[in-house]
Amino acid sequence: MSNFDYDLFVIGGGSGGVRAARVAAGETGAKVALAEEDRYGGTCVIRGCVPKKLMVFASEYPAMVEDARAYGWTLSDPVFDWPAFRGKLEAELDRLEGIYRNLLSGAGVTTYDARARLRDAHTIALSSGEVVTAKHILIASGGRPVTPDIPGGELAITSNEIFHLDTLPDRILVVGGGYIACEFAGILNGLGCQVTQFYRGAQILRGFDDEARGLIADEMRQNGVNIHCGTNILEMVRDGAGIKVKATNGSEMHFDQVLFAIGRDPNSDDLGLEGLGVETGRRGEILVDAYSQTAVPSIYAIGDVTDRVNLTPVAIREGMAFVETVFRGNPTPVDHDLIPSAVFTQPELGTVGLSEEDAREQEAIEVYCTSFKPMQQSFAGRSDRVLMKLVVSQATRKILGCHIVAPQAGEMIQLAGIAVKMGATKEDFDRTVAVHPTMSEELVTMREPVRTS
Ligand code: NDP
Repeated sequence: MSNFDYDLFVIGGGSGGVRAARVAAGETGAKVALAEEDRYGGTCVIRGCVPKKLMVFASEYPAMVEDARAYGWTLSDPVFDWPAFRGKLEAELDRLEGIYRNLLSGAGVTTYDARARLRDAHTIALSSGEVVTAKHILIASGGRPVTPDIPGGELAITSNEIFHLDTLPDRILVVGGGYIACEFAGILNGLGCQVTQFYRGAQILRGFDDEARGLIADEMRQNGVNIHCGTNILEMVRDGAGIKVKATNGSEMHFDQVLFAIGRDPNSDDLGLEGLGVETGRRGEILVDAYSQTAVPSIYAIGDVTDRVNLTPVAIREGMAFVETVFRGNPTPVDHDLIPSAVFTQPELGTVGLSEEDAREQEAIEVYCTSFKPMQQSFAGRSDRVLMKLVVSQATRKILGCHIVAPQAGEMIQLAGIAVKMGATKEDFDRTVAVHPTMSEELVTMREPVRTS
């Protein structure tokens, strides 16, 4: 018999924490508890991926209506009812939160709707006043948006607030050039807001393939997003005309809302880590080994609080690997290599592996790339372009990177990701018969490299 109240105590009811708790309890018979101070489902379900994707869908209908007209349909002008959509969105999130709670109770996990703080390597103090002990502790407390440290910064909102606005702003400034900034610039533009985006660097989506970034920036501009690169915000002040923004390029503009999407920090504050020996990095991320174990043997951490690869499916994998390691006696490191991902801009970016630039730093490569007007949009009179790109190792012929900029690129890269993860070569792609007529058939029909180095 264990001397602890629980075999496992999980801090955080997001994707990673819930998966680890319910698998440990439901499949290994461990006695498990989980504390969540906010809503179950975490960032992904409550204030991230899920509501964001629903907003992406909502935002894409006006363009579809325009295209439908070009295809011969007679349709009246679309009008968006934000409160009606928001109400449905809230109901859907309530439904999903209920599912998460049921998954936990169904697996026999005890839940505490409270904030948890570590007292020692095996003891957790809850904001409800209870104190419990556990043989293992798993920190899965996620992250939060960084807020601006500039004069008037309190006037801005972050992605946490965007889903709850009473009204959609006529004029909005989005600050940042990463996933969240670019996705919301597209969403808000599609919903009819006048969107300006400030990015401090030379080109949005730093870290992704340069050619893909360039095309997305061009398409976003063509769709109406007013992107200013090399520009940041200096200060904000509210006056009679809205929020007045002074920018580093010397301009002064008014907006109804300013959305900051300048990164996310790990939620490691006030967990009681100081003094326990759990090590944290420069941004507060909890430092762990390949098995998600911290410097304190009984304490593990997964997901965004560890700031490894901050994506929901990765947190879930880390949670599963933790259970396998600790509760099934099968040490399982997490494989963070070749993770496919998508940015839900218009058009979407789907990507796996190395950018052309990073691959070239590593070895001699061949680049196969084509950019063209896709049939569906071209017929509708749009000048939208898509991009299909393969970065190939000259030595091994393996695909080092695959980058797709196109509607539904997220769906495409999931499948291309399997081939790349399996170590497919350019010749494996070549001997695969094209699916015609599709956009992605170009991935198996590109014969000559556009660049070699
Ligand atoms: P990112 O780290 O992706 O981007 C942050 C952006 O803000 C960068 O463009 C950065 O510029 C800029 N920035 C940072 N600090 C400042 C500052 N002080 N002033 C002005 N600009 C600044 O963060 P996000 O918030 O967009 O997203 C967080 C994470 O969430 C992502 O990295 C991703 O892992 C995850 N996510 C994934 C999604 C998906 O899979 N579709 C969707 C949404 C989020 P610079 O480039 O110069 O550093």
